[in-house]
Amino acid sequence: MAYDYIIVGGGPAGCVLANRLSADASIRVLLLEAGGSDWNPLFRMPAGFAKMTKGVASWGWSTVPQRHLNGRVVWYTQAKVIGGGSSINAQLYTRGNAKDYDAWVSDAGATGWSYSEVLPYFKRSEDNQKLHNAYHGYGGPLGVSYPINPPPISYAFLRAAQELGIPFNDDFNGAVQDGIGHYQLSTRNAQRSSASSAFVKPVEGRKNLTVRLNAQTVKVEVQNGRAIGITVATGTGTETLNADREVIISCGAIGSPRLLQLSGIGPADSLRAAGVPVVLDLPGVGSNMQDHLDLYAISECTGDHTYDRVARPHRTVWAGLQYLLFKTGPVTSTLFETGGFWYADKQARSPDIQFHLGLGSGIEAGVAAMKNPGVTLNSAFLRPRSRGTVRIASSDPTAAPLIDPNYWADPYDRECSIKGLRLAREILRQPALKPFVMAERMPGDNLSTDEQLAEYAHHSCKTDHHTAGTCAMGSGPDAVVTPDLRVRGLLGIRVVDASVMPFVPSSNTNAPTIMIAEKASDLILGKTPLAPTPL
Ligand SMILES: Cc1cc2nc3c(=O)[nH]c(=O)nc-3n(C[C@H](O)[C@H](O)[C@H](O)COP(=O)(O)OP(=O)(O)OC[C@H]3O[C@@H](n4cnc5c(N)ncnc54)[C@H](O)[C@@H]3O)c2cc1C
Repeated sequence: MAYDYIIVGGGPAGCVLANRLSADASIRVLLLEAGGSDWNPLFRMPAGFAKMTKGVASWGWSTVPQRHLNGRVVWYTQAKVIGGGSSINAQLYTRGNAKDYDAWVSDAGATGWSYSEVLPYFKRSEDNQKLHNAYHGYGGPLGVSYPINPPPISYAFLRAAQELGIPFNDDFNGAVQDGIGHYQLSTRNAQRSSASSAFVKPVEGRKNLTVRLNAQTVKVEVQNGRAIGITVATGTGTETLNADREVIISCGAIGSPRLLQLSGIGPADSLRAAGVPVVLDLPGVGSNMQDHLDLYAISECTGDHTYDRVARPHRTVWAGLQYLLFKTGPVTSTLFETGGFWYADKQARSPDIQFHLGLGSGIEAGVAAMKNPGVTLNSAFLRPRSRGTVRIASSDPTAAPLIDPNYWADPYDRECSIKGLRLAREILRQPALKPFVMAERMPGDNLSTDEQLAEYAHHSCKTDHHTAGTCAMGSGPDAVVTPDLRVRGLLGIRVVDASVMPFVPSSNTNAPTIMIAEKASDLILGKTPLAPTPL
């Protein structure tokens, strides 16, 4: 079987591309995903997220010891399933700040990616169940809706943040990002709207689209400076498949630099050190890694105000029935559906802290649940100055990559992270939350100096899973792809996923990745770009 386009990686970007490229029946498209299917109902249930960060449908990787976190190794969930991160994430639908995209153009040379130019692509995907205005649209494949029944403690949180001077905001994706509110979610009718369910399921009957699961690509085949196909592991051996037009790498911000390096495309020194023959010396591949580091405060509640006790068998059964029969109750919650954006650095151009209110105490991997019901308030610093790397350890495609986010290498990141944690603690102490919150348990009232909080962070911090930047687009010497997402120095190959973001947006990264793939599909097909939105 011959293909025009081979898309490697069935995450959000890969699923969008599979849909948009195969819309023309004369174009033959192959989508290859290393992980399996998302048939398990847990993938559909919004609250299924709680199971997902703990290893389900994941590659099982961790970071290398973090030098500036006292040697801590951080668990680093990366999706391995059709839909990629959008099948296992917390479903928060946020786009970041307009200034993030304008900086892609002004500071990285990513011509064509300013906010007014990318906004039409955000809207093209969107099927917003409530909003229709300059910033939002409906009728697209991706369901976007507000939480169904946030519990009273989440409203108390909104009041508490306002008591501290943070304004209420009903739409973080609208004209103003600042403030506190309920998030929009990539859900539709109380079900996760993953990229797989939104973009691939509805078109899987197309004769010109082939989707292969459990198919890890181990190498991009390059001949005379042109990518001509890929080699995929089959279980019993390998198989090489040709792409008549292009190979598109959409393996995510860890997977894409990993596959390029396994194929001999990357920094020559580290390729040689790993025993891989150099095809193209491209130093930026796997550099410029950015991520949002998350610190959190956990308080014990005065009663059963969150979902901690839903884990008990009889409550789980009732919650399941409530969901199946009425589409209400705890299972409709993504557990992180309330939060917002505010400032650690008062001089910052736009909010640099994001809050996620976690409706429980032990929701994510590595965080132990408390005996009594608890509530978590996460704060992530959004514009890190530290830069990390992704490198292959060897030429073996089954070996884990060396993931080094290099958190807190820049002291500014540490300073802002700690300010964010202080803000989170302050919110939890406001009068509006008094009826719900008994006392802070983590970090605990006895820890107050920056040094004590940094020490607490060393052993408790976690990733917000917003990895970006490792195959950055732009026009500088370190750019891996051009603004039309072609790999510099090669023909017939592009990278399309979160790795091409020159700077991580000030938000969660699923919607921005979907936007990138929407725009990429027009670039690949040579279509006229959608008209910029006048703002
Ligand atoms: C636990 C978690 C929670 C998150 N929560 C949120 C949230 O609430 N909101 C939000 O906006 N963002 C969230 N994110 C981030 C968001 O999901 C990611 O930014 C997004 O998924 C990135 O999409 P991608 O297409 O770049 O890559 P990925 O989602 O990583 O997808 C890449 C896909 O490629 C496959 N692949 C990799 N290598 C190969 C290979 N060699 N051959 C074949 N296939 C391969 C992988 O298995 C994977 O399925 C979360 C992420 C995680 C992991």
